[in-house]
Amino acid sequence: MRARRLNGYHKMMPTPDDYPAFKPCRCGSSRSYQACCQPYLQGRLPAPTAEALMRSRYTAYTLKLEGYLLATWHPGTRPERLDLQHDETRWQGLTVKNAEAGRESDARGRVEFVARYVNRGERSTVHEKSNFAKEDGRWFYVDGVMLS
Ligand SMILES: [Zn+2]
Repeated sequence: MRARRLNGYHKMMPTPDDYPAFKPCRCGSSRSYQACCQPYLQGRLPAPTAEALMRSRYTAYTLKLEGYLLATWHPGTRPERLDLQHDETRWQGLTVKNAEAGRESDARGRVEFVARYVNRGERSTVHEKSNFAKEDGRWFYVDGVMLS
């Protein structure tokens, strides 16, 4: 018998990534991948907080897991598709600057972060304040404001 999947998730989940479970998580939490973002990216657990979702989405960008990004994007703002396979952005690190609400008991949350990347030899950053909403017990990325 197949394991029961979280509602609607399996349709958009990617094939499993091959990032080693014991390596430091890409989101910069200093925990191993398996103790951090992996259970969320594999759809085994929902991210419990807005910050955890934000971190897991950053990790999904680094691993080019479009399915997870779409599955955790609010249906009201979700793009029809994402193609990261030809994206030359190489993510270098994440710093979470601030989180407002977004706890397990909240329905809304905001996370401010800086993500560093290199694209075609150019170093740059994304500094964004992202809005998250929780529906049916699950956090979604809604939208964000670029700060610089
Ligand atoms: Zn992580």
